[in-house]
Amino acid sequence: MINQSALQSFDRFETPFFYYDMDVLRSTVDKFASTLGKFGITAHYAVKANSNDRILKTISGAGLQAECATGNEITLAIANGFDAGGIFFDGVAKTDKEIVTALKAGVEIFNCESIQELEVIDALAGGMGVKAAIAIRVNPDVDAHTHKYITTGTEEDKFGISSWAFDQLFATLSRCRNLDFRGIHMHAGSQITDMGVYAQLASRVLEFEKVFEEHGFKVSLINLGGGLGVDYGDPLGNWMPDIEGLAGAIAKNLPLKPGQSVHIEPGRAIVAQCGHIISRVVYVKSGLKKKFAILDCGMHTLIRPALYQAKHLVENLSCREPLEKYDVVGCVCESSDTFAKDFEGGAPHRGDFFAIHSAGAYGQVMNMRYLQRDLAPAVYSDDIK
Ligand SMILES: *Cc1c(COP(=O)(O)O)cnc(C)c1O
Repeated sequence: MINQSALQSFDRFETPFFYYDMDVLRSTVDKFASTLGKFGITAHYAVKANSNDRILKTISGAGLQAECATGNEITLAIANGFDAGGIFFDGVAKTDKEIVTALKAGVEIFNCESIQELEVIDALAGGMGVKAAIAIRVNPDVDAHTHKYITTGTEEDKFGISSWAFDQLFATLSRCRNLDFRGIHMHAGSQITDMGVYAQLASRVLEFEKVFEEHGFKVSLINLGGGLGVDYGDPLGNWMPDIEGLAGAIAKNLPLKPGQSVHIEPGRAIVAQCGHIISRVVYVKSGLKKKFAILDCGMHTLIRPALYQAKHLVENLSCREPLEKYDVVGCVCESSDTFAKDFEGGAPHRGDFFAIHSAGAYGQVMNMRYLQRDLAPAVYSDDIK
């Protein structure tokens, strides 16, 4: 959260910047570690949500494993303290170079998404004289009830292998001598707040497990993917994600067999609420009917509102009253670059500090240099105490 002493220190920095409350991050990671530990679930942090060195070090320091979507993420995760032998390597488009990086690093599992990918990993592993431990990402055909761009588990999505292709899958797995089949992976999408989705995923896994085992493939690893949502509406009051709800839904619906391990790949839920964009009002502009607070950040700093119509809570940190109604907009020349329409908050003035909350996940990692603007740097609460 942004307290008075943090606010006073903001004058020292050029805006916009990402402000990370490291106490919130540590509390969240510790809660993940302790709750999941109780339920015997292993968490692999999805590095793509936020890959800052200090954030990665905090998460690896708490004992979490990593989930990586590229070869470069694997290298970065290992450099920041994650155990190579606990990395899950995901992605629909793993290149030969990335597969070799992962094999050399000795990642725990390749989560594979197509028959062709299996054949390529088999050949590359064979060439290196190693075996690749793999899990199959199956398409669960479960709707995550989230925004359509971040739903990934339905039949029409590009992800995973669907059950109609299983005959070919089993034939390929039997043929590929350098692959070591371990289990099943699913990922239904992101920003899931209905724990019923995880209950549904768990029961789908049991159906798939039966089919795999009937074909002689023992399932020793079950991975339900990421997707746990956060409260973007009330990030200051309700910042801790529902980790107990998630663990409970899995434990209740997924009876494990001896020797089986269960894994999840949370990204957003771990880092979203510790991050805030701190920006200043460049101009206040009054139209005939509307007033605008124009910020020095924009869709190039945080693309989620423009890309997925995501809503982030905004706050005028410098002025609490009188209350006024106005739009809070970014500095890019596109109308979709709007953070809040008809926002009710403290009257805006040139130079006021604004916070855009819940910006720790899929924020800085997607910051781009459109219009040749500078990248927004990170400021950590630990450094300004
Ligand atoms: C993006 C992704 C995750 C993390 O998703 P969150 O919604 O951030 O928890 C986990 N697994 C896979 C396969 C992903 O693509």
